[in-house]
Amino acid sequence: MVIVMSKGVTQEQIQAVREEVERCGYRTSCIVGEERTIVGVIGWKPSQNHFDHFRSLPGVEDVVPIMKRYKQTSRDWKPVDTVVNVRGVPVGDAKRFVVMAGPCTVETREQLLTTARAVKRTGSHILRGGAYKPSTSPYDFQGLGEEGLKLLAEARRETGLPVVTEVMSPDKVGLVAEYADILQIGTRNAQNYDLLKAVGQTRKPVLLKRGWASTIEEWLLAAEYILDQGNPNVILCERGIRTYETATRNTLDLSAVAVVKRESHLPVIVDPSQGTGRWYLVAPMAKAAVACGADGLIIEVHPDPAQALKDGPQSLRIDKFEQLMRELQPFVAATGRTM
Ligand code: PEP
Ligand code: MN
Repeated sequence: MVIVMSKGVTQEQIQAVREEVERCGYRTSCIVGEERTIVGVIGWKPSQNHFDHFRSLPGVEDVVPIMKRYKQTSRDWKPVDTVVNVRGVPVGDAKRFVVMAGPCTVETREQLLTTARAVKRTGSHILRGGAYKPSTSPYDFQGLGEEGLKLLAEARRETGLPVVTEVMSPDKVGLVAEYADILQIGTRNAQNYDLLKAVGQTRKPVLLKRGWASTIEEWLLAAEYILDQGNPNVILCERGIRTYETATRNTLDLSAVAVVKRESHLPVIVDPSQGTGRWYLVAPMAKAAVACGADGLIIEVHPDPAQALKDGPQSLRIDKFEQLMRELQPFVAATGRTM
């Protein structure tokens, strides 16, 4: 539930309400909006007695239960948009559209730096690249591991771009967090609750991919695990779900973007690369993602997709990516944002 404080409430009254709620065995968080302050109450099913008691406290206007299974992720909990600050790049700002781009996988120093320079040149904001790769087959490339993280750090030093990279297991969270500016949780780990809790215990921004078989509710509940550990810096990413369709690698569910923007205050970006699996579908779906209200994109770019160790068929050549960045401009402008 949330406790809506009256207009003109004093700091002392807010503090007294929080202390009383905590005395009753709940945790609280305070959300200061433009007009109202809301005290969020976290804990296992509040009782009706507590509900009535909190409503009677000085400075309280209303106590509202949150009926959804996800609470802290919900807009009922926090009506204002969350803007996640990634080393100075705001993600989720209603006026700014963010592009993350780079290779699926860090392969070599030259491959990464060539791509990173191109990504920087186009005015994109964040560099992507996997060092630990979840592969469906154990015989596929598994990533360079820490060596890949070091190359990402070098690319950041040279370009100034923050980096996003995947972490696959709780025991690697500390190591990956030393190098990454955003911890990516991949689709295969989207319901790995130990991993979600582990990234929730850091304060690093987290890019939470939608599980390929997750409903929107399950996806938001996965985000709830991270928020509930005290890390508010979650960016959701729609990357396609598995359906009976085989013309595309996944079915990019753009309606989920509109649902999530309505249901949650968290930023949501779109991955048209994993979402379609075909490089020639990336540009049209990227434009559609802008149009449907996504806060950003994450796109795979490779200097030579034919030679890529992973995801070559869905990776854009650098010239194609440059062209896409030019073509996105009017779509971004039409939604009242800038890049
Ligand atoms: C990726 O971004 O390269 C990736 C493996 O993503 P997903 O977890 O969405 O498949
Ligand atoms: Mn990939």
